[in-house]
Amino acid sequence: MTDSNAGTPLTLSGSAPAPWQRTAAGANLLGPDGALGTVIFEEITGLAARHGAINLGQGFPDEDGPAPVLEAARDAIASGHNQYAPGQGLPVLREAIAAHQERFYGLHLDPATEITVSTGATEAIASALLALCGPGDEVLTFEPFYDSYGAVIGLTGADHVTVPLHAPDFLPDDEQLAAAFSDRTRVVLINNPHNPTGTVFPAELLQRVVDLAARHSAVIVTDEVYEHLTFEAPHVPVATLDGAAERTLTISSAGKTFSVTGWKVGWLSGPAQLVAAVRTVKSYLSYTSGTPFQIAVAQALALPTSFFTGTAAVLGTKRDLLSEGLRAAGLGVYRPQGTYFVLADVAPLGFEDATELARRLPELIGVAAIPVAPFCHDEGAERTRTLLRFAFCKKTDVLTEAADRLAKLGAAL
Ligand code: PMP
Ligand code: GLN
Repeated sequence: MTDSNAGTPLTLSGSAPAPWQRTAAGANLLGPDGALGTVIFEEITGLAARHGAINLGQGFPDEDGPAPVLEAARDAIASGHNQYAPGQGLPVLREAIAAHQERFYGLHLDPATEITVSTGATEAIASALLALCGPGDEVLTFEPFYDSYGAVIGLTGADHVTVPLHAPDFLPDDEQLAAAFSDRTRVVLINNPHNPTGTVFPAELLQRVVDLAARHSAVIVTDEVYEHLTFEAPHVPVATLDGAAERTLTISSAGKTFSVTGWKVGWLSGPAQLVAAVRTVKSYLSYTSGTPFQIAVAQALALPTSFFTGTAAVLGTKRDLLSEGLRAAGLGVYRPQGTYFVLADVAPLGFEDATELARRLPELIGVAAIPVAPFCHDEGAERTRTLLRFAFCKKTDVLTEAADRLAKLGAAL
């Protein structure tokens, strides 16, 4: 392998998976074609690098976060904050998270017992699921779902139950939602705003989920990493809904809001007993992470409200720019209300398989995108077979150049 990020799948001989290819509960971690699963983001980023393509695949901004926040991390390193932080996170960061939840949402949290810092949202999700679920339990998510959800649910040994989101609005059907709950539902894992569809779920729908979770005594884990990236209306955290706070763990991360995806500072908040269980699991995963980055993120969370609204406004214009480019290139475009992703349908151009196209796109026209099918199980993959996800968290001139290249896609057939 020439590029450590390229992730060429290793094909295995024989049909029965070896012990190291299975989770404790026996779930097979091999891909559907018998290859070791490769994270789709790594695969596409590897292809983009190899072909010098504009990478609108993996979701990361091409500009740094706010200068004072970067300076705060440099200062923290220079002034000797380079050893382990406490497992639950530095007090200064937990206090800043509590102040942020109070300022934006009116939520009151005790930094001592109701908040824990994690190595990105990814670790918070994994710790919560590992703390709460095991074989015999069911975890319910919408589909498409963020890729780590499926993998971590597999690691817990629980069953993954999905409720499809239907185009064009990418909302669930009421009856399918209610029918997906059972007496085995242990966790409902929500992602709002939603990756990859860009849907911002209406508060009434979220309230229905809360009511169903309460009826089935399920815990809600809500991944709100795109909380500040909404275009039409401010974000409504699940924890603010009627009857939700007592059963909800809320997860977020500095990566998206402050354009520092490489820092991997995330957090989780909720009722003390649930947070205590997550802290225990988290202690044995990473134990703790990034002391100087925690100090800098504490400062970032205290930035004036105009920073947060300004970021969303700039991103909204980029959404419009890329969406227009995709439309002009002949793709069908679904308008996102949040996140920094837009879904586009390649069927109007005559392509039937967006995953295959995504693997050819960097070489074909010098643009990379992520297929939606890997965010799904089999049926969902069929439904989303012609969908690609494009990231618009890039400089304006980069998006303009990408749009010019995409305009050639029809002719590249
Ligand atoms: N959840 C969702 C929905 C995401 O899109 C991402 C990717 N940024 C994550 C979690 C992971 O966040 P982090 O990089 O903070 O681990
Ligand atoms: N969350 C980002 C995305 O959805 C990147 C995730 C990753 O690289 N694992 O594109």
